[in-house]
Amino acid sequence: MKEHIQHPIFKIITQAATDLKVDAYVIGGFVRDIILNRPCKDIDVVAIGSGIELAERVAKLIGKNTTVKVFKNFGTAMLMYQDYEIEFVGARKESYDRGSRKPIVEDGTLEDDQNRRDFTINALAISLNEKTFGELLDPFGGLIDIEKKIIQTPLNPDITYSDDPLRMMRAIRFATQLNFTIENESLQAIRKNRQRIRIVSKERITDELNKIILSSTPSIGFKHLFNTGLLEIIFPEMANLHGVEFIGNKGHKDNFYHTIKVLDNICPNTDNLWLRWAAILHDIAKPATKRFEENHGWTFHGHEDKGARMVPSIFKELKLPLDHKMKYVQKLVRLHLRPIALVKDNVSDSAMRRLLFDAGEDIDDLLTLCNADITSKNEEKVKKYMDNFKLVEKKLKEVEEKDQMRNWQPPISGELIMETFKISPCREVGTIKSAIREAIIDGELENNYDAAFQFMLKLGKELNLNSEA
Ligand code: ATP
Repeated sequence: MKEHIQHPIFKIITQAATDLKVDAYVIGGFVRDIILNRPCKDIDVVAIGSGIELAERVAKLIGKNTTVKVFKNFGTAMLMYQDYEIEFVGARKESYDRGSRKPIVEDGTLEDDQNRRDFTINALAISLNEKTFGELLDPFGGLIDIEKKIIQTPLNPDITYSDDPLRMMRAIRFATQLNFTIENESLQAIRKNRQRIRIVSKERITDELNKIILSSTPSIGFKHLFNTGLLEIIFPEMANLHGVEFIGNKGHKDNFYHTIKVLDNICPNTDNLWLRWAAILHDIAKPATKRFEENHGWTFHGHEDKGARMVPSIFKELKLPLDHKMKYVQKLVRLHLRPIALVKDNVSDSAMRRLLFDAGEDIDDLLTLCNADITSKNEEKVKKYMDNFKLVEKKLKEVEEKDQMRNWQPPISGELIMETFKISPCREVGTIKSAIREAIIDGELENNYDAAFQFMLKLGKELNLNSEA
């Protein structure tokens, strides 16, 4: 493993550990990631003794006023070296109380410290001691599990997941990020202990969920979450998308599998977490709006509006931000059917302008979402839809070039309306403003100041307002 720890920082830690006569090891995620060839800037160092003292000694050897951040309550210390963030901790032994995922901690050996790790691939350590520098300490076969792409716990999975149920989310997150298989006993233990997830804070759960969503194939994680029963507990609205109902021989598509397909589809085209959330939520109201109509079969009328209205409560429950990010997701959910509706031949420019106006600067993201929403088992169908959709994109581009609606600013301000008619803020100001906007979108009025000014005068007359112009 020596080749992996060539960076000068490791020699400095070795020197510090020798000076203090303690043993030190790099452990956990950093070791896993260097073996996997994944870039990693967080180094965890475990000392068989005081982590804080070791950190302070390392800082002294580095010099250059290196500062150590000490977290006394946790017995840990952190320092930055070049672009590495290095955390030092004394080896510990942990025991758990059933009501909490916070363990009772006491000093321990390296072995105790490896035992408390969640997965075999996260329990690997590399020696930083002079005589054994670079030696891998792998008591649970983590290296083989990395080769075989397996997630399993070092100790009894039932106890490991029950002790700290966040590990269930972590197992699924690593399986998704690394494209690893979760070993069967582990999966069964997760299923068995799923209710224990309730003792984990929602913020921690959502942190893991977002990491799943930001991976390149999030459907892996969502399938695990669904199959283990965790999804029903942490995000019931999404679990509710699952299933197909039949009346006679008429079924609808399974909206859970459709949704995670849309999510996978969008990933190569965006790393924007919120656009990915819009993909997750675009059909969230389908179960609530599902009807069977004799002549049409299954319908989901209004699911886009109802879905948009569900977004705030889902975000609140998952402790996601309730600011402009939520509003953005809401907007995309509300508008997600609109571009597809423009696929017909005879669609007017005004429908295009209205969509450009409503989507504003998010029009490209909306089109990315709609593209991802084209799913079917029938490849020919997908190709046909895609081709039609490309035409819509082209037409939207043409209309935008001509009319510039996406960042539309009213050519006539409220102030000008009030000044012209010598009125103070009142309903008529809003009426005139929206009539101008509607006329421009409908193509009845040119999008410029002069035309809009004349139109305003005409509207004023109709409303019995006086102007001297
Ligand atoms: P990432 O950096 O991708 O979030 P990581 O595993 O590299 O994942 P941390 O979450 O900081 O980084 O964890 C560092 C190490 O601490 C892990 O590799 C693991 O050995 C251990 N660890 C973290 N969380 C737990 C847990 N809940 N239970 C047991 N061990 C854990």
